[in-house]
Amino acid sequence: MNSTSLDRSLVEQLVRQALRQSSPTSTASPAVASANAPGWVDGKPNLRVSISARHCHLTDEHVEILFGAGSVLKAEKDLYQDGFYAAEQTVMVVGPRRRMLGSVRVLGPTRPFSQVELALTDSISLGIDAPVRHSGKIDGTPGCVLVGPAGSVQLTQGVIRAARHVHMNFADCEHFGVHDGDMMKLKISSPDCSVTFEDVLVRADKAAKLEVHIDTDEGNACNLDAATEVVLKKSGCGCEKK
Ligand SMILES: [Zn+2]
Repeated sequence: MNSTSLDRSLVEQLVRQALRQSSPTSTASPAVASANAPGWVDGKPNLRVSISARHCHLTDEHVEILFGAGSVLKAEKDLYQDGFYAAEQTVMVVGPRRRMLGSVRVLGPTRPFSQVELALTDSISLGIDAPVRHSGKIDGTPGCVLVGPAGSVQLTQGVIRAARHVHMNFADCEHFGVHDGDMMKLKISSPDCSVTFEDVLVRADKAAKLEVHIDTDEGNACNLDAATEVVLKKSGCGCEKK
């Protein structure tokens, strides 16, 4: 799918708008003491479920185009996963027919490819039919235009709905009896709106802390803030059979 093209005056108008805008990020990151393995508490895995609000990842080159020559991402808030952060910078994401989302947070560090991660509701309001993909799997996905205070970038691909996944280290993998690439299920008990999410992909890394990432639509569906219990299980272990 081709991205929209923008005329110069609209881009300038958007740049002015981008300069005026700034909004807080929604990612929480309280400190957790680690025992044994990253993120463990009292010798046990400590499950955290986080909502990833819409955000984008940028290349070094795109950071300079959007924010000016020599610009780098400035960390505003550390994420729970060590080494990752919400940057001070935000961009405007523009879809076809000039529909747009203002102040989309940039997450750092920079990556080899720029990518925009939206919830379904975001993609509907942008008018982009973003497919569910795991991060980095962006071949054949739609593009968009990113606008920052210093310029704009036309992405030919990279707009996705991030597929739900769980980060974990190898001690967590052993605890749950899973491997990188396996699927798990997550039950979130919440007053009057409990939800079980299937297809939660395991993304294992030795430095990762146990954390499920769902998008805002998924978080809203189960009213995550009001959840009373979250249980993560290996899929297909037979324990759900009657
Ligand atoms: Zn994640």
